[in-house]
Amino acid sequence: MTTLPEPFASIPRHQLLYPHPSPIHPLPKLTSSLPSKPTTTTTTIWAKREDQSSPLACCGNKFRKLEYLIPDILSHRSPTTSSPVTTLVTEGGIQSNHTAQVAAVAAYLGLESLVLLHRNTAAFSSASDQTNYLKTGNVQICTLLGSTIHYLEPNSQKRTSTNEDTTDHIEPHLSSLREAGKTPYFIPSGASLHPLGGLGYARCAFEIADQETHHLSHTQSKIFDHIFVACGSGSTLAGLIAGFKLLQQESKHPSSSPRKITGILISPTKPLSYHQTRILTLAREAGSKIGLRNPAQDITPEDVVLDAGYAGSAYAVLDGSTRGVVERLARGDGILLDPVYTGKVMEGVMGWVGEEGLREEGDGDGGGGGEKNVLFIHTGGQAAWGAYVQ
Ligand SMILES: *Cc1c(COP(=O)(O)O)cnc(C)c1O
Repeated sequence: MTTLPEPFASIPRHQLLYPHPSPIHPLPKLTSSLPSKPTTTTTTIWAKREDQSSPLACCGNKFRKLEYLIPDILSHRSPTTSSPVTTLVTEGGIQSNHTAQVAAVAAYLGLESLVLLHRNTAAFSSASDQTNYLKTGNVQICTLLGSTIHYLEPNSQKRTSTNEDTTDHIEPHLSSLREAGKTPYFIPSGASLHPLGGLGYARCAFEIADQETHHLSHTQSKIFDHIFVACGSGSTLAGLIAGFKLLQQESKHPSSSPRKITGILISPTKPLSYHQTRILTLAREAGSKIGLRNPAQDITPEDVVLDAGYAGSAYAVLDGSTRGVVERLARGDGILLDPVYTGKVMEGVMGWVGEEGLREEGDGDGGGGGEKNVLFIHTGGQAAWGAYVQ
């Protein structure tokens, strides 16, 4: 049981996840295959399986965020007709996992869904088979889940990725739904700009802490010194940062020690400082909701560690190096990563832990000896593979 402090515990949440925490397990083959450094520290790489956190279709990190949006969706009324929500509307790149998870939630709640997919992406223009890219993977699954799919044409807006922050291009779609007598509810890309979007992963920090103290070791608690996670639209990373800060504030908690959390940027369309400021804002917003005493002081720019070095050629483009890492995990540990996010994150983990050494010598365990545990967050996304046939 994940226990949260107040006021966090009282924020309404509609459960989509299993009642038990998503599993955490070691990756033994990967761990032993990484070059060991001439120190006495042993590093173990673990995976937290957010791709196995919910029974709903295409399970991944968006369900955790959507749990906190559902109470708002269910209580929302149209300002003009007072009717309840009929239709969830969301957007993403063509193979967006987020849209499929929103479609699954719509089906589960008995609502309709409209999925808006951006065609003007590097991933689509570089796809080896564009017709296939438009029809398979998450697109096919959205259709199975009952969504209506509209493509946003290349000239309808100037966008290069799915994480730009304007919604002007959405308005016409919301208006036509309203004209048809529907009440739409818009969920921004990745749910990150939704005011409640960061809460799910703040809660996940408490779940991880609970697993550290109660589940993973019978003899002693196991603390994850360094956590790696994808940073796309950003509220997964931002929520984790806020949640672990709140844990630190709860100094009585056995897992209250400070963590290193590194976000592997997946879509660095702007300078690093832009992404850093964005994550900082999202983390502080989540922090103020969950009860950080002084979010602006408690969460500092130094808490937002982003690495743009593993993004590859463009968002959702699968480079040879990422494919290599995916194959290494698949053939070594029998674990399937995804082509857009977790493959790149794992490249980052291998870079930081292996070849480059954990760039934090001397931290945490006092520099010499001991055990380090690295946690890789598997955020899902495997349903996109069909669109990446060679
Ligand atoms: C959306 C997504 C992410 C990124 O999460 P953000 O909160 O948008 O940064 C990572 N992995 C997968 C598989 C995703 O679908």
